[in-house]
Amino acid sequence: MTSTSVDVRTCPLCEATCGLEVTHRDETIIRIRGDRDDVFSHGFICPKGSTLGKLDEDPDRLRVPLIKREGRHEPATWDEAFSLIESRLVPIIAEHGNDAVGVYLGNPNVHSMSGVLYPRVLLKMLRTKSIFSAATVDQMPKHISSGLMFGHPDLIPVPDIDRTSYLLMLGANPYESNGSLATAPDWPGRLQAIRDRGGTVVVVDPRRTRTAAAADEHVFIRPGTDPLFLFALANVLFDEGLVDLGDLQDQVTGLDELAAAVEPFAPETVGEVTGVDPVVIRRLARELAAAESAAVYGRIGTHTAEFGTMASWMVDVLNLLTGNLDRAGGAMFSHAAHEQPRSPRGFQTGRWRSRVRGLPEVRGEIPVSTMAEEILEPGPGQIKAMITIAGNPILSTPNSDRLDEALRGLDFMVSIDLYLNETTRHADVILPGVSPLRRSHYDFAFNQLSVRNVANYSPPLFPLPDGTPDEWQVLLRLGAVVSGQGAEADLDALDDGVFGMMVGSAVGNPASSVHGRAPEEIFDATTGRRGPERMLDFMVRTGPYGDGYGADPDGLTLDRLKQAPHGIDLGPLRPRLPEALCTPSGRVELAPEPLLADVARLREAATRAVNGGFLLIGRRHVRSNNSWMHNIDVLVKGKERCTLQISADDASRLGVGADGRVKVSSAAGTLIVPVEVTDDIMPGVVSLPHGWGHDLEGSALSVAADRPGVNTNRLSPGEMDPVSGNAILNGIPVEVVPA
Ligand code: SF4
Repeated sequence: MTSTSVDVRTCPLCEATCGLEVTHRDETIIRIRGDRDDVFSHGFICPKGSTLGKLDEDPDRLRVPLIKREGRHEPATWDEAFSLIESRLVPIIAEHGNDAVGVYLGNPNVHSMSGVLYPRVLLKMLRTKSIFSAATVDQMPKHISSGLMFGHPDLIPVPDIDRTSYLLMLGANPYESNGSLATAPDWPGRLQAIRDRGGTVVVVDPRRTRTAAAADEHVFIRPGTDPLFLFALANVLFDEGLVDLGDLQDQVTGLDELAAAVEPFAPETVGEVTGVDPVVIRRLARELAAAESAAVYGRIGTHTAEFGTMASWMVDVLNLLTGNLDRAGGAMFSHAAHEQPRSPRGFQTGRWRSRVRGLPEVRGEIPVSTMAEEILEPGPGQIKAMITIAGNPILSTPNSDRLDEALRGLDFMVSIDLYLNETTRHADVILPGVSPLRRSHYDFAFNQLSVRNVANYSPPLFPLPDGTPDEWQVLLRLGAVVSGQGAEADLDALDDGVFGMMVGSAVGNPASSVHGRAPEEIFDATTGRRGPERMLDFMVRTGPYGDGYGADPDGLTLDRLKQAPHGIDLGPLRPRLPEALCTPSGRVELAPEPLLADVARLREAATRAVNGGFLLIGRRHVRSNNSWMHNIDVLVKGKERCTLQISADDASRLGVGADGRVKVSSAAGTLIVPVEVTDDIMPGVVSLPHGWGHDLEGSALSVAADRPGVNTNRLSPGEMDPVSGNAILNGIPVEVVPA
């Protein structure tokens, strides 16, 4: 006889890290709801979180490896799959070199312990420079500006929304996205709390999003001009003597250079091109400066644009100029339980360059917009084989048609994924990923972007089927193959080696709590663990709240996290500067040279004439998670969501009715799409969501195929912000005509 159990775990689907209460009978999910005792989310849940059971049960989810034979994917054993990988990949490396194998890392990797820790092991073993990820369609500008200003690309300030009295948001729609690069379950509740305590929320966006509609004020802005608006705010602060660095007065360099850089961007200069009244810009700058505490927060709409890094830089600059950086209620730095001491080496890009266009490496990868050309263009170093891990770049990266052609022509491709999807259909071998309910979870990525310091660990809810390896074992085995150790290598020995390097680096680091200790002592203390759990335990024990392997008997360990299924609250964010800075100067670099060098291009943009054409922007929906939850029926049913939003004035001008369809064309491609006429979008702007286009032959997503939508990335030509290499997905010029 079976009985009903209730377990709690952290939702791994998005950045909000909500606690879930899961009721199940054996491996059948009966109900998932928000965990009211979770120390951070307090019962909040969005529609996606309650569908983890449906994802686990989805008959389309891959359970065994697939091998492509005569154009069809057929089930295979793990040994057969690895044997084929070894027989095909190793000769390619031998003949063409390591860079001939490209790797694409999709966004779901950062939502998994193995996905954070083990791809980097694989990359080390593969020794390729042909590395791409979703970061260059999403957030690379923030890594670059943080690297240059604070010395480390992951030292990212987050808005202290639980204590701020004034929040200015650009290009962010957390009512739909649930937050990004700022982890906070229940953004709607937290934003309402700002207003309830007498504070103000202002949203600047080309669309009146749900977030904008709930704010005190919404300001329309032309797509792609956010940095001009932000520079103008900084200009007003200098011009009107409102600059006050507060406690950071003596901790910065470059203030004069910064003042000179923003000087040409008076509100009256940028008013026409941004579409924002200069009077409003001046008022908002004064409000920012006068607020008891304030935070400026810019997200994806600002990053995926022509001047993404300029916008990201100026967001942090404004927080600093108003005395709100690193202060309660301003923009602060999280301090995650697993954070390891960072060395003040500074930040560098361009350690190597992309083969075809000579673009600089950023944070160890080259822009994903170059992936197709790196595969298609012949010559030394051409990519001949690809490994994709938890990603669907055909739908999620620019110039999809060209990438489709490129992947089709590869000599060999192996994918690790939950599904046979639009990208993995090109793979010769697909290795199944692990259902989120069958793996353990700790948020390595998002605890370091959290608006409150918390730590949660969830063990797997259900076991892996017999004979199914865990994700980290699959990645290690792949590493063994590409490094010439063979598919039959001893994975435990390899994992000991990986862990040994982690321990060795810590005991040799004077800033570590285990500096000088014998590595064997640490190994002995971890007996019985391996894989990501062993690394997590080590990182937590040597982290800022850790027990330091006995140095602080009350400190955190993985065992203590396990004893606290609702999470451990480590308190509100605390000031961390200047100690956390990794710049060689030990100060905040307000005016880094690579950013100053791009100001001239921005000045030119300020003088551009506004023509009457349409600009395309993206759109989020709370029931979508990029492309990867569209095979869950309850998340895609109902009204068609993949529509082109257009203003009533523009629709009328084009002669398109509410039920009409339009042809949208860009330099890259053409789509036919139904329109959605609305007053919530700026005239001259049209919006299409991303992650759709599930109508490609060869994929096996039965639910998604019934509601395929169109792939907006077929319209993105693959142009980039030159500083970060981030794709331009917002502000793409398009022509719209009735279909
Ligand atoms: S908001 Fe994100 S973390 Fe929370 S339930 Fe939804 S998908 Fe999961």
